[in-house]
Amino acid sequence: MSSVPYTDQAPDAGLLVRDVTKEFVLAREKVVALSEVNLRMPQGGFLSLLGPSGCGKSTMLRILADLEQPSSGTVLVHGEKPSVARRNHHLGIAFQDSALLPWRSVVDNLKLPLQAAGRQLPDSALRDLVALVGLTGFEKAKPAQLSGGMRQRVAIARSLVHSPQFLLLDEPFGALDEMTRRRLNLELLRVWAERQTTTLMVTHSVAEAVFLSDEVAVMAPRPGHVVETVRIDLPRPRTPEMLRSPEFHGYTDRLSAVLFEGRTAQAPAEPDGIS
Ligand code: ADP
Ligand code: MG
Repeated sequence: MSSVPYTDQAPDAGLLVRDVTKEFVLAREKVVALSEVNLRMPQGGFLSLLGPSGCGKSTMLRILADLEQPSSGTVLVHGEKPSVARRNHHLGIAFQDSALLPWRSVVDNLKLPLQAAGRQLPDSALRDLVALVGLTGFEKAKPAQLSGGMRQRVAIARSLVHSPQFLLLDEPFGALDEMTRRRLNLELLRVWAERQTTTLMVTHSVAEAVFLSDEVAVMAPRPGHVVETVRIDLPRPRTPEMLRSPEFHGYTDRLSAVLFEGRTAQAPAEPDGIS
């Protein structure tokens, strides 16, 4: 395990988060949602934020999406401030709740962000997107006619309509059963490899974080902070067989120790019976 060194010397980095703090005031009480968070990853990387409820994962993602402003600190996505990246349609976002419009078909839901931006995509590009997430044949279906997993695929396809440089995913598979989740993990990896989109995913699943990521930042609450960043040196492409490998379990054990016991590489547990 290593914590990621932080420098400012990489304007072409995929993600640069420096000393970000975010405070909310709620009924005159101050809530420190994020305290001194530092993160970075190269372009084309896959970083996961892993942590329990309330540790500030969504707040971090919302700051990157330009939906919240940090109280202090700086943030760059592909060298741009989030407000600029958002205006340039360089960001794609998908949340746990697919938030599709029920009266619109799959294709018409995909067109929504295009219409909001006054843009158009040729029908062939929309068909390619539908195919990319494995929904060919369901173009005209309404959300109610789709399973939960299929709706999340539509949400991911919709996050990709502007061909973003940077993809922000907030527990995109959190509401799905384990089988569907694993299948969609594989599909997400395929899309990520094909599009080479820098990706930040929020999850509370240790296995999902290890399976997908180049790096996992483990967060803890009160105040929300990054406990440790762990590089995942499993080969790519990742395959389902890897889920059964000793290396995979080594990573999930180590991350679980940080997540559930607060045990970090810098502060290992007391060895039993040795003084
Ligand atoms: P996570 O996504 O890890 O569950 P959040 O980022 O949603 O955590 O929340 C982190 C903390 O910030 C929580 O204590 C939450 O109550 C608080 N918080 C988040 N958004 C707001 C808000 N808009 N106003 C007040 N407090 C908020
Ligand atoms: Mg959240």
